[in-house]
Amino acid sequence: MKSSKIKKYLIIFLLFLSSIFGFNNQGIKIIKNDLVLGYVKTIENNRLISLNSFSTVLGYKNFVNDKTEKIVVNIGGNKIKATNGITFVLFDDKVYQFPNKVIVKDNNYFISTSSLLKLINSNKSSSNFSLKDNEIVISEVLNKKTERVDLTNEKKKWKFSTIVIDPGHGGKDPGAVGYRGTLEKDVALDVAKRLEKKISRNMDVKTVLTRDEDIFLKLDERKKIANDNNGSLFISIHANAASDRRASGFETFLIGPNKNEAAVRVATRENAVLELEGFSGKKLTNEDLIQATIAQSAFASKSEQFAALVQEEIGKRVTSRNRGVKQAGFYVLWGASMPNVLVELGFISNLSEEKKLRSSQYRETLATAIFRAVEKYEKTLNQ
Ligand SMILES: [Zn+2]
Repeated sequence: MKSSKIKKYLIIFLLFLSSIFGFNNQGIKIIKNDLVLGYVKTIENNRLISLNSFSTVLGYKNFVNDKTEKIVVNIGGNKIKATNGITFVLFDDKVYQFPNKVIVKDNNYFISTSSLLKLINSNKSSSNFSLKDNEIVISEVLNKKTERVDLTNEKKKWKFSTIVIDPGHGGKDPGAVGYRGTLEKDVALDVAKRLEKKISRNMDVKTVLTRDEDIFLKLDERKKIANDNNGSLFISIHANAASDRRASGFETFLIGPNKNEAAVRVATRENAVLELEGFSGKKLTNEDLIQATIAQSAFASKSEQFAALVQEEIGKRVTSRNRGVKQAGFYVLWGASMPNVLVELGFISNLSEEKKLRSSQYRETLATAIFRAVEKYEKTLNQ
């Protein structure tokens, strides 16, 4: 047999094999004006589509940064940015939450096919992309007004669907212990539960408490709950303590490189639970924190915005000192793929502040303040 014939048989055999095992090498067919523009790589039965290959087939450019694992593509005048392992996708610099994390395979950035098409269709471009079986058909539309109305809800869903509330500490880890013995874990749980009630009663979003009783939970488990629930916002609730009994006030933290000694002290205290967990991993270095900040760049500004609102709303309601928004290496915020903050409600090591934090009225006020911040934050997303 000639080698060309062998090749031919080999190809037929491989095609036969691939049909048996359901390999979908061709992916989705792209059709415009009855012409096949090409095939776009997909995985998981077309549920996820390669952004790179999609933009190439449509004749647009894409740029991949291997270091930061980010891709930027232009599709029909819309700029789309995605980052490996993250559910947030930037579309014309607005943040949208996708149902799946971005998956990178063989240098292809795979994202949810249906969400991508909905997002493109909701925008100014005059083309409509519709997904049918193994095809995406592109058609020209003159008036897309009606469709845009329907998509307002769809966009809203991506942007703000689940709020994860994380009461700090619990079980064998009491957290900080107050001047008169108040435990941080109890204050955190009570305020978190009050907050959860307010949100679920007044807003159309799902809420998840990482713990709703006095149990021990590892920091990694808290993050996992947040990520598994595809949270759109993560709020970790704590109370502070300092060796200086005069220290008082409330502050909100973001993850970031350590810049301020007092902030580092708070992070060290909050990360101390890692010892109780028998944590054998490495401690967060400044290098890690810079990495984490880059990985979170898609929602860093959102975290900052929310943190500022928390400070503002608490400040309106209590006389305690507003210590502002700070950043440091909080392990619990590291790797939570969503805007996230850690709120320190006040110092239980301070006699008068501990007294306030013991009162249910004060806790209710704090919960109301954070709830108002969540409400205001949601409004900024829908603008
Ligand atoms: Zn704490």
